[in-house]
Amino acid sequence: MLDVKWILDNQETVQTAANQKGIAVSVAELAAAQQKKLELLREVELLRQERNTLSQRVAALVREERAQTAERWQTAHKEERPDHEPPEGSDSVAQTPALSDVLKDNVKQINNRLTLLETELSETQHTVDRLLLRMPNIVSPDSPVGRSDADNVEVRKVGAPREFDFAYRDHVSLGELHQMIDIPRGVKTGGTRSYFLRGAGVLLHRAVQQLAVDLLVEAGFTLLEVPLMVTSDVMTNAGFFPLGEDQTYKLEGENKWLVGTSEASLVSYFGGEMLDLSQPVKLAAASTCFRSEVGSSGRDVQGLYRVHQFAKVEQVVLCQADPELAERLLQEITSNAEQLLQLLELPYRVMAVCTGDMSQKTYKQYDIETWMPSRNAYGETHSSSSLLDFQARRAMLRYRGEDGRPVYCYTLNNTAVASPRILIPLLENHQEEDGAIHIPPALRPYMNGAERLVPQG
Ligand code: AMP
Repeated sequence: MLDVKWILDNQETVQTAANQKGIAVSVAELAAAQQKKLELLREVELLRQERNTLSQRVAALVREERAQTAERWQTAHKEERPDHEPPEGSDSVAQTPALSDVLKDNVKQINNRLTLLETELSETQHTVDRLLLRMPNIVSPDSPVGRSDADNVEVRKVGAPREFDFAYRDHVSLGELHQMIDIPRGVKTGGTRSYFLRGAGVLLHRAVQQLAVDLLVEAGFTLLEVPLMVTSDVMTNAGFFPLGEDQTYKLEGENKWLVGTSEASLVSYFGGEMLDLSQPVKLAAASTCFRSEVGSSGRDVQGLYRVHQFAKVEQVVLCQADPELAERLLQEITSNAEQLLQLLELPYRVMAVCTGDMSQKTYKQYDIETWMPSRNAYGETHSSSSLLDFQARRAMLRYRGEDGRPVYCYTLNNTAVASPRILIPLLENHQEEDGAIHIPPALRPYMNGAERLVPQG
């Protein structure tokens, strides 16, 4: 979330970012709502002051009028009972409404008006909050402008797509051959976009994750096991709600949602705290991820590419609000993922993601796409993003700046590995003519030392 004052001072920049990201929000509408809110606040404040002044005058007048009444009453009854106090309301002298009553009436009218204005103020505040939650992050000047992933720009290519001199199989038939991927039984059990992994398939799925975890721990990341069911606040603070709500599974009858990525939980971990960011804080988690994939119907329906449940090892970094540092860390978390792909001996390319393919919260993004022979194309396997202080403002992630004042930190994240999608290039690129699968050396320690998987039966 951006600061509302900053948005209003930079309306054109924010509206351009919204248009380029394809997010339907109007900064002018926010400006109008904020202006109305400020006017209402001013009016409410003035009326409250007026009411307080009047109330004090009423109290003083009531005291004064009571004293006068008592004096008149005592003068009138002096000879009869000099020590007698006048009974309440016994002033027969004052027939016209007392000034205090007139003022009391004014206070009542002010209270009525305040009730109306306070309702209007809370509705306007609600509108401001709703619009603010939909405002996009700005986009880095070096991000390509475009409408969809077709406009992403290749930054580098590592390795070359394999040329097969035999009729190669796709991952589904390799999975069947090795009895390690079973989609029909997955669909029977979990519905569309579900699967079973079995035997060596499970080992591979776990092996790639453990390799990723080990690399991250070696690189100084702290590993966390995270909640997979989180509150809507956690999803909002990490920037997934409100715009991504339809992508998320909700637990019926509870304010709990299944995470689509452990990024949500990792960002929440230090939420509301004052951090020591003398060094960047690097967090990692391996978790199951759940995605409704609303809006993807008919897309990538074959095999393991787009499923409702998968596993992901995620990197999240929190650092001081320093653009150069954030840029260095973006390169670092991107290269962590590249290191893994190189160890898996897979050809890939790094893409600078264009505005139209970015999410609301993203400032700058690289996708890594790995060569998938069955698609005859590179397919996205990793997504590396820098968010400036967009998440930190929502999640209240702060540290003390040099002058001792709290500063919102910057956050970044990247996939380390996501499986089973990564099994697609792994199986397809490493297949041999007889259907055997070459296991890259880096994975062997996690695969009981196996160098090849040989089809069963
Ligand atoms: P994201 O968190 O959306 O940036 O996605 C990170 C990575 O998770 C992607 O690059 C994919 O490798 C993987 N992924 C995302 N969505 C799915 C899905 N529905 N099925 C399988 N893998 C996915």
